Amino acid sequence: MKKITYPELEHCELCEWRCGVNRNEGELGVCKISSPIVASCQLHPAPPESYTIFLAGCNFRCLNCQNFSIAHYPDQTNILRGWVEPKKLAQEALERMSSPFGRMINADYIFFSGGAPTPSLPYVIDIIKEARKLQPNVKVNYDTNGYMTVKSFEKIAKLTTTFTYDIKAFYQETFSALTGANVEPVLRNAEILISKWREKIWEIRILAIPEIVEKEEIKALSEFIAQLDFTVPICFLAFLPNFILEGHMGATKEFMKEMVEIARNTGLTNVSWAGRTGIPGKIFKIKSEDSNLRKFNLENAKLAASYALIHGCKTIPRNCKKCLYNHICEIKKYYPKRRT
Ligand code: SF4
Ligand code: SF4
Repeated sequence: MKKITYPELEHCELCEWRCGVNRNEGELGVCKISSPIVASCQLHPAPPESYTIFLAGCNFRCLNCQNFSIAHYPDQTNILRGWVEPKKLAQEALERMSSPFGRMINADYIFFSGGAPTPSLPYVIDIIKEARKLQPNVKVNYDTNGYMTVKSFEKIAKLTTTFTYDIKAFYQETFSALTGANVEPVLRNAEILISKWREKIWEIRILAIPEIVEKEEIKALSEFIAQLDFTVPICFLAFLPNFILEGHMGATKEFMKEMVEIARNTGLTNVSWAGRTGIPGKIFKIKSEDSNLRKFNLENAKLAASYALIHGCKTIPRNCKKCLYNHICEIKKYYPKRRT
């Protein structure tokens, strides 16, 4: 596979883990990606209709990951597309968007997703610049978990047309239990996004997970957004049982409507929900007397942490940078028995 280097990867601080490793020389940070690699690309009919470029790897280790075979590169055995020259990929995106199928679905965006695109940010920027040389007004969406430095955020905000911005939870206990990361930078960047780049918000996406991210947490998160701007478009995504949470109960329609209602009651005016509902599963009963679980104040966070614990997570509360097992992580290697 061709190796590509970028100055930004020499002392990598693209995301808030700020690992400082030299990825050009093969050193690995939390994301474990050295040079940017494309997992796959496809025309995608979900709004914003697009040619979507999935970058391999992620800086989070979410228990509910739907794209684990991409996100957990290089620990999962993936079939990846590999390195593609930015100019070639930009040309390809524009050609596919103007193909008969691209026109049929009205694909007018290049959409960067993953995994997470932030560990590949310099590559993403090169692709955008190449695409705009060919078609100056081409629209771009950046799909993000929000875990990037302000410097990275400002760089991509200047170039992208819109963001789809995920907020996985509001409370630190829940957020770290679900993702292995810290919530503060994500809320900070959400605040910058709403106050400075409001017109670039396609939507803020919140995954609602029964018994984990629901009621109180949704209320607190909605209040946080509403006090910044009550008109921000919010879309609740219905939890689908996947990855470590493969056996957990899926969201029901009633549950999703309740989350929307809770959000509207905080003053938010543009709230919707999306996704498949009614996938059967169970709510795991916490049996473990592990002393680490006693550190939790929130039952929902404790439940999420229990799932991580029984699947081999070694650091509870989770923090994938401080964890000594980062490079031999059982969570990152997990292969679920069912996908929904
Ligand atoms: S986790 Fe973030 S800071 Fe660390 S190497 Fe990856 S992109 Fe860079
Ligand atoms: S074992 Fe360590 S690196 Fe792996 S998910 Fe748990 S905290 Fe993160």
